[in-house]
Amino acid sequence: MPESRVSITPEIIKQSKTLTCDCGGMIFHTGMIFKKISQFLSPTGKEELFPMEVIICDKCGKVPTEFNTHKIIPEELLAKPFVEPTVRSTGIAGSIGGFTA
Ligand SMILES: [Zn+2]
Repeated sequence: MPESRVSITPEIIKQSKTLTCDCGGMIFHTGMIFKKISQFLSPTGKEELFPMEVIICDKCGKVPTEFNTHKIIPEELLAKPFVEPTVRSTGIAGSIGGFTA
């Protein structure tokens, strides 16, 4: 019977692309978030804390959308694609402290 599990060789790794965060970051660490399951939704009938491990980008501190497979990561934790500041594209470089909000 042939071995069903294919082993990953250094050559395969070399040819594979590295997962990047939406911001371009490539180094990640894990963190925990806790969901408070209300007594109305909880199977035990009591409020429960549900721990969830999340992958966090070292560069932007957010969760890459690639890891949001079940679409359950809170929106505010998700990484956003890097967008060039609009000031740059218009060519106006001299507006220092131009934040209005
Ligand atoms: Zn990132």
